[in-house]
Amino acid sequence: MIKIKLPDGNVREYAQGTTGMDIALSISEGLARNVLAAKVNGKVVDASLPINEDCDFQLLTWNDADGKSTFWHSSAHLLAEAIEALHPGTKFGIGPAIETGFYYDIDMGDKALSADEFKKIEDKMLELARQKNQYQRSEVSKADAIKYFTEKGDEYKLELLEGLEDGSITFYQQGNFTDLCRGPHIPNTGFIKAVKLMSVAGAYWRGDTSRKQMTRVYAVTFPKQKELEEYLTLLEEAKRRDHRKLGKELELFAFSEKVGMGLPLWLPKGTMLRERLENFLRRAQVRAGYSPVITPHIASKELYITSGHYAKYGADSFQPIRTPDEGEEFFLKPMNCPHHCEIYKTKPRSYRDLPLRLAEFGTVYRYEQSGELHGLTRVRGFTQDDAHIFCRPDQVEDEFMKVIDLVLYVFKALGFDNYSAQISLRDPENKEKYIGKDEDWDKAEAAIIKSAAAKGLPTVVELGEAAFYGPKLDFMVKDALGRKWQLGTIQVDYQLPQRFELEYTGSDNQKHRPVMIHRAPFGSLERFVAILIENTAGNFPLWLSPEQLAVLPISEKYEDYANEIFLRLQENDLRGYIDHRDEKIGRKIRDAEVNKLPFMLIVGEKESEQGMVSVRKKGEGDLGMMPIDQFISLMQGEINKNIVRFKE
Ligand SMILES: [Zn+2]
Ligand SMILES: [Zn+2]
Repeated sequence: MIKIKLPDGNVREYAQGTTGMDIALSISEGLARNVLAAKVNGKVVDASLPINEDCDFQLLTWNDADGKSTFWHSSAHLLAEAIEALHPGTKFGIGPAIETGFYYDIDMGDKALSADEFKKIEDKMLELARQKNQYQRSEVSKADAIKYFTEKGDEYKLELLEGLEDGSITFYQQGNFTDLCRGPHIPNTGFIKAVKLMSVAGAYWRGDTSRKQMTRVYAVTFPKQKELEEYLTLLEEAKRRDHRKLGKELELFAFSEKVGMGLPLWLPKGTMLRERLENFLRRAQVRAGYSPVITPHIASKELYITSGHYAKYGADSFQPIRTPDEGEEFFLKPMNCPHHCEIYKTKPRSYRDLPLRLAEFGTVYRYEQSGELHGLTRVRGFTQDDAHIFCRPDQVEDEFMKVIDLVLYVFKALGFDNYSAQISLRDPENKEKYIGKDEDWDKAEAAIIKSAAAKGLPTVVELGEAAFYGPKLDFMVKDALGRKWQLGTIQVDYQLPQRFELEYTGSDNQKHRPVMIHRAPFGSLERFVAILIENTAGNFPLWLSPEQLAVLPISEKYEDYANEIFLRLQENDLRGYIDHRDEKIGRKIRDAEVNKLPFMLIVGEKESEQGMVSVRKKGEGDLGMMPIDQFISLMQGEINKNIVRFKE
């Protein structure tokens, strides 16, 4: 007998050679119908694989990330089977699961695969799925494997085989299709009930631009038709909320090829939005004891040699700017930290001066390959809401917790209620990738883990994800569509203070080295605004809206009254515009709706005679006529309702 430990801690005994499916059946038949795979001592395996030793055991269903990716990877085999049935002779590269489905890289020779054929392939996949063919695993010798794919004439699989050891090679067969694969897979194709081919794209074999370009077929599958429909609705909604589309429609930002790829131009309305975000954080930072600083956009190469950035990124980054006469070399600033270290050094510091918190909305430039650029989320020039905290080692944990408070305040104020954090630590197997002493890393890692736990943050720990100079805590938010975005980051750094030889005089009158904490709650303003647009679909909270209201005179006759009203609103710090155009009122209202104006004030004869305004509110419609003062207090009430107070 072997001991199987279930996730709830229960230990059950089973005969040696029992399978995940046997265990599922012993619990309930309903459960067994939903089992896609199993996890044995942390490793995902086929539910049909015999288990021969005591283990930690978990059944995987569609609701587990590993279950879902097994489902999607198995679907890639089904896609290949369908394509092979329709186009005999097709050669296959690799077919992995990805975050939203799976793909298979295929080579159809002279033939091309177009979207017109998607429906035919989907139908074939469903027809094959209905046959409930098992994914049958078999171990094969390398010689037999080579023989099989040589006869089939698939040079891609033959190349993959070259990298495999004899004795470790497995085939999986479902229906008439056999693939080289290490698995695992779902029990049979019958689990796949809904199929959608999404797109095709070119993809170089093994990502090498000198190799053959294959066709990458992207698809997604689900265990229920309803789930596919929900997914497609979500995709439509995501498209509607795409920040690149809304940014253009709402005139927030633009790109110009002449200015350069990945270099956003902030238009007046986008700038208003961005400045409001900056001011919001500035005020919170003053209350949290930060001091603002400003540093230049370029700095001498020496600075980055000292910081270590040159050695690490110099070759892969924007190349130096040279002065014509002195032959000096300057780099576009990729980070603000080295500058802040130099500010620290402008005078002697004592233990009483610490922590010193320097904050800057610092614009930095980083080279990204043109293919990687994407709207405001991946750019070549962006502004970080950066700050560096220089503190004593005994203050690290406390400062770290204060930063967590500030980050959570920002999320709350901007309506991101669903957040989690990732603790990124060193890869213990590859310590040479990181600069600095072992004991410093251990201390920093412990401080992060402890403060995140003290603040009750939901966290995951990732090994090998740390920055080269220190461990970090990255915040993730889930938006209105359930998509995950990476936002702010907090990093502990023992290295830069050492490289810049930063010091303070301790209470013992001796010199000591401060610890540095890097932090940016938004991450970058560009990225944050992109996420904010997608999360709100462009319906920003009233206090952030670039334009809060539009005054719409019914005709030219009421221009003077409209101007008078607008002035009163401006005096009360409300913002927007008067629509002076010679257009019908219906048109003016429609345009204000398209521009997502939170409030519209319609003024005509009745309004001007009685000193009133007719108010329309987005999402609620007509609020009726009211005196202007009443409208102003209504607005102020709405704004205050949105504002979350910062607590020390
Ligand atoms: Zn496979
Ligand atoms: Zn920094």
